[in-house]
Amino acid sequence: MKKLIIAVDGFSSCGKSTMAKTLAKALGYTYIDSGAMYRALSLYCLRNGLMKDGSIDEPALMAVLDGIEIKFKKNTDGVSQTYLNGENVENEIRNLEVSNAVSIVSAVGFVRKALVTLQRKLSVGGGVVMDGRDIGTVVFPNADLKLFVTADSSVRAKRRYDELAKKGQPEDFEDILANIEWRDKLDQARAVSPLKKADDAVVLDNGEMTIEEQDAWLLDQVNRKIYGNH
Ligand code: C5P
Repeated sequence: MKKLIIAVDGFSSCGKSTMAKTLAKALGYTYIDSGAMYRALSLYCLRNGLMKDGSIDEPALMAVLDGIEIKFKKNTDGVSQTYLNGENVENEIRNLEVSNAVSIVSAVGFVRKALVTLQRKLSVGGGVVMDGRDIGTVVFPNADLKLFVTADSSVRAKRRYDELAKKGQPEDFEDILANIEWRDKLDQARAVSPLKKADDAVVLDNGEMTIEEQDAWLLDQVNRKIYGNH
């Protein structure tokens, strides 16, 4: 059976990664979190003084970019972890400081070019579910299935709030909401690869859906693609 490429795009904190992971598991595919790559690079910029006063030192980043290694490896529970130059940064890249830097770093054209190249390299042969902002529009315009996820921003902020609290990394609800709305705005407005729905993407507003309803919807979409079920 052909191994599909499935693109999951949409707004921040919509549960895209949960969806993409569920799909990858159900199909025996590889899950790739493209946002984690932009986050890891943002962490590098923060740690190395390349971010100042909300802007990025582009020449300095360009000079070191080739030497920065971003990789995914599974932990003993089979959960994908993000590595920056050999260090597991999976938890650190989710904090609010990184979330506040990432939409600035991800708007830089040469950063996107490098990470899109890496995303395509990791997907050779198919059998991949990748989530992000430009997967169905730029990274894989010929993806077999494209999903575009959305939900009300306060619902998304509440989900992120609960997730961070559960991980022992609590943040203020209003700060999270402001960050989500700010990232949505920057991601949609940037000149290079802005966040937008691909013409042939299927839209899912999961604001009022349970996980079970969402999973059923997802499997239906995949079955339609694989078996042509209607
Ligand atoms: O998906 P996540 O929220 O972790 O992504 C973090 C940020 O990375 C987004 O707000 C966006 O600025 C950037 N991003 C992107 N293109 C992608 C994935 C993420 O620009 N394909």
